[in-house]
Amino acid sequence: MISRQIDETAIARAKALIDQADRIVAICHTGPDGDAIGSCLAATHVFSALGKDIRTVIPDPCLANLRSLPGAKEMVDASKYPDFAAQLLRDADLILCLDFNTPGRTGRLEEQLKASKARKILIDHHLGPEIDADVVISHPDMAATCYLLFRFFCRLELFNFIDRNAAECLLAGMMTDTGNFAYNCADPELFIVTAELIAKGADKEKLYNQLFNTFSANCLRLNSYALLKKMEVFADAGAALITLTRDELNRFHYVKGDTEGLVNRPLAIPGIVYSCFMRQEADCIRISMRSKGDFPVNLICSEHYGGGGHLNAAGGEFYGTLDDAAALFRSILEDNKKKYIAK
Ligand code: MN
Repeated sequence: MISRQIDETAIARAKALIDQADRIVAICHTGPDGDAIGSCLAATHVFSALGKDIRTVIPDPCLANLRSLPGAKEMVDASKYPDFAAQLLRDADLILCLDFNTPGRTGRLEEQLKASKARKILIDHHLGPEIDADVVISHPDMAATCYLLFRFFCRLELFNFIDRNAAECLLAGMMTDTGNFAYNCADPELFIVTAELIAKGADKEKLYNQLFNTFSANCLRLNSYALLKKMEVFADAGAALITLTRDELNRFHYVKGDTEGLVNRPLAIPGIVYSCFMRQEADCIRISMRSKGDFPVNLICSEHYGGGGHLNAAGGEFYGTLDDAAALFRSILEDNKKKYIAK
């Protein structure tokens, strides 16, 4: 048995809204990851089994490795079918807002979400929800929205409606947000839920290969090239930097997602506490930073690269040349060390 975490009143209100709804739409954030797609698709499987007319609408395409999740082919991509997506949101009785905390995170769906007369249930694990929803189920302590959603289904007495497909989608989200159970895993009940999902037929090995171990030859070569030729290690400053120009990306036929996770790699080096990856895009330099412990990359990104994020994962943009963006990074190493490392 898992503990009861979701507030009883929220469950009762959500149940009433679901009972009343015929047409339901599940939506998620832009650049949807495994937890976003997994939670929307799991909700679609479970509520379809309950006899509801439910569709998943995503603001823009997801990475290719998520497109083989059960039900993914029926998702409506609003960037490809804007009119159909708008109609679904307009006609919905109920919108499930999954894995995001503010309407702005839904990109092109934001205005339609705000304008829709549908009732709304938010189920999410990001800090500080700012959504005008009828029911807000926000648990930042939970590792994944899919994990929270499993608890939600159980509390609605829908455990038996979680079939193999739904189980696979839920497990995909939990694996994504924990790096295949590498971090955010201190909660023992996460593994009880994992066991339940596997018992329902979710194939963890297959999911691992799909989600974590499928790369094109170009992608492998690009990442190897980046580490071999483009990684600068500033051992004294506890930092590392990787930059990739447009030409370099083109040489390896870069497609979106190919450099996913690259920024984390230098953190494996003992003594490196923060890492920065810069990618030249058409109109700007995209900055991504990761750190270990209490080194605040969110502050570095907001102070120098017009961005922000979390303590250990942040991003930003630089308008100028890649060389200038990299020079700026090198110029603040000493300062960062004094402020955040040498104590
Ligand atoms: Mn998530």
